Amino acid sequence: MRIGVPKEIKNHEYRVGLTPPSVAELAAAGHEVVVETGAGSGIDFTDEDYIAAGARILPDAASVFAAADMIVKVKEPQPQEIALLEPRHLLFTYLHLAADKPQAEGLMKSGATCIAYETVTARDGSLPLLRPMSEVAGRMSVQVGAHYLEKEQGGRGVLLGGVPGVAPAKVAILGGGVSGINAAQMAVGMRADVTIYDINNARLAELDMFFSNQIKTAYASKAAIAAAVERAHLVIGAVLVPGAAAPKLVTREMLKTMKRGSVLVDIAIDQGGCFETSHPTTHADPVFEVDGIIHYCVANMPGAVARTSAFALNNATLPFALKLANLGAEAAMAADPHLAAGLNVSDGKIRHKAVADALDLPL
Ligand code: NAD
Repeated sequence: MRIGVPKEIKNHEYRVGLTPPSVAELAAAGHEVVVETGAGSGIDFTDEDYIAAGARILPDAASVFAAADMIVKVKEPQPQEIALLEPRHLLFTYLHLAADKPQAEGLMKSGATCIAYETVTARDGSLPLLRPMSEVAGRMSVQVGAHYLEKEQGGRGVLLGGVPGVAPAKVAILGGGVSGINAAQMAVGMRADVTIYDINNARLAELDMFFSNQIKTAYASKAAIAAAVERAHLVIGAVLVPGAAAPKLVTREMLKTMKRGSVLVDIAIDQGGCFETSHPTTHADPVFEVDGIIHYCVANMPGAVARTSAFALNNATLPFALKLANLGAEAAMAADPHLAAGLNVSDGKIRHKAVADALDLPL
């Protein structure tokens, strides 16, 4: 198959649909890969790296779309990219159509087959192409939390791990799923005093087995969260109720009980946030203060570590990209129902029930 990788054009997006190692895998399987010049320049993948991996470099997005049958991207296509899509194209990328009717209508009009990373499933019902970004956000949350606890950043002036003779900082992680466990691994590595709160008892048992005596676990009752917030130096919000807005676990009232200069990192901000006082921020201006408590609420945390994120995303997407390239979209989806769950649009119609329901469009 002929596979095309355009340069991402969404503001502050430095990731790229295929890294040079992924291109090499596709080329080795006999596929032709074309890459827009400078597609990986934001994270130091040069055109020469892509050529060495077996790709051909083209001067602009229009020539990539014209030369390729499958387009592999990161972010949802922008209007000028949708204008380049034709019915023969297979688009493989994050789409997030449920909240974006203009994009959905544009993709329907294009006639292209569009498979969304975020709805591809795994055998256990999880979402394997979202997982790497939760891993990145979870690990990053402790790094940014430690940074904003520093005095110069407005924080309390507390070192997460303490030192011999001085107790470590207390870290409360609300939600022990993918991002929560990754946050805990980093916080434990820095020798903080870590407690994970969840309402899923089976998950608490898994976490207890996994970390043994390195962490504490607690059922996330309102009372337990109120006590945790009062004690903690760093609170990480990592909850998810699939398909729903994040529950507001920490109220404005609770904030008043916190130590001044403590830090809240709301990873769940992309679902509305789990602290009542959260609102989305950007990497350009990531934090704000309420009642002396620093809030970090960046909705696209992985963007800050775009190189790591691009590799992590490719590790998850490449097996599916290879399957699509080797078999063609129809046969690949017939052979793999989890990949088929990613189909959002084809032949001018919405093909995913939850997306159709959210947009009030027919299937
Ligand atoms: P996950 O499903 O793996 O884990 C969520 C956990 O929250 C589960 O263990 C669940 O039992 C628990 N939970 C649900 N309700 C709870 C409650 N009331 N109290 C305590 N625990 C509760 O989800 P995840 O992959 O870790 O994602 C978490 C959030 O992070 C999602 O909203 C996701 O979209 C978001 N996210 C944000 C970024 C970012 O850049 N800000 C990046 C990646 C993911």
